[in-house]
Amino acid sequence: ETLDKGLEKSKSSFFGKLSKAVAGKSKVDDEVLDNLEEVLVSSDVGVNTTLKIIERIEARVAKDKYLGTDELNTILREEIASLLSETNIGEETEFTIPKEKKPYVIMVVGVNGVGKTTTIGKLAHQFKKQGLKVVLGAADTFRAAAIDQLQVWADRVDVPIVKQNMGSDPASVAFDTLQSAVTQDADVVIVDTAGRLHNKVNLMNELTKVKRVMQKVVEDTPNDVLLVLDGSTGQNAFEQAKQFTAATEVTSLAVTKLDGTAKGGVVIGISDQFKIPVKYIGVGEGIDDLQVFNKFEFVDSFFK
Ligand code: GDP
Repeated sequence: ETLDKGLEKSKSSFFGKLSKAVAGKSKVDDEVLDNLEEVLVSSDVGVNTTLKIIERIEARVAKDKYLGTDELNTILREEIASLLSETNIGEETEFTIPKEKKPYVIMVVGVNGVGKTTTIGKLAHQFKKQGLKVVLGAADTFRAAAIDQLQVWADRVDVPIVKQNMGSDPASVAFDTLQSAVTQDADVVIVDTAGRLHNKVNLMNELTKVKRVMQKVVEDTPNDVLLVLDGSTGQNAFEQAKQFTAATEVTSLAVTKLDGTAKGGVVIGISDQFKIPVKYIGVGEGIDDLQVFNKFEFVDSFFK
């Protein structure tokens, strides 16, 4: 029900536009497909993924020449869910981490302003609620505000934070954080990293160094490289996904600000284009406004 509330804009817009696209039509024909294409693109699904969806629907129309527009919802829903299935576990509803990995290390990447700090705070809250011991690492040392904001969240959630002065070596902060986590017998470590997209080589070097140093303390870490994207920025989010996946191996995505956008389709397009599962979605500024991404709930809320 919170998801429905959170995605209110996406769904009313998508569903509303979809209804308009088929208005006065009883059969799915070329015009309906053209309109549908426009609706998907304007909902930020992205051109490639839109074409893929349209092709699949065309194939079904070719099989069943009298496919009615009243069936379009069901078909579209099936095709979107099936697309998401290719990359998402999607059946998860809980914030879980594998118990056998301790500490479980999440390295968080993304550019400034997308909601990185907020997402870290919300995640820490979820894990803490389960009784897990969480440690935060402020390895975004480029901006003093980034360190301060993470401190605010650490206080709010009441979890320890490891930090150094602004300008210090991010890898050094990551090292300290993991060492402290091991000493404290922590379950989860969440490390913030700098979000400058200064240039690809620098970004790659910095993230590679942070990872290498983490592995010196706990082998096979980070266990998750979580890229945070602002869902309300459409093509920018695609562009950032491209840059970060080129710089490091991103293993999951958090898409934020889906409460403030009429274009939730970005979730469909990005997970399809980059074959990286969307794990979390942000649906507000509050501490509880982070949800585990569930494809069935998502598709349902899109079409309700
Ligand atoms: P960072 O620079 O990437 O660390 O971004 P912040 O975490 O500081 O977030 C930037 C702004 O976006 C803040 O005002 C947050 O409250 C807001 N924000 C973060 N996530 C969400 C979300 O899911 N929904 C909404 N509406 N706002 C969000």
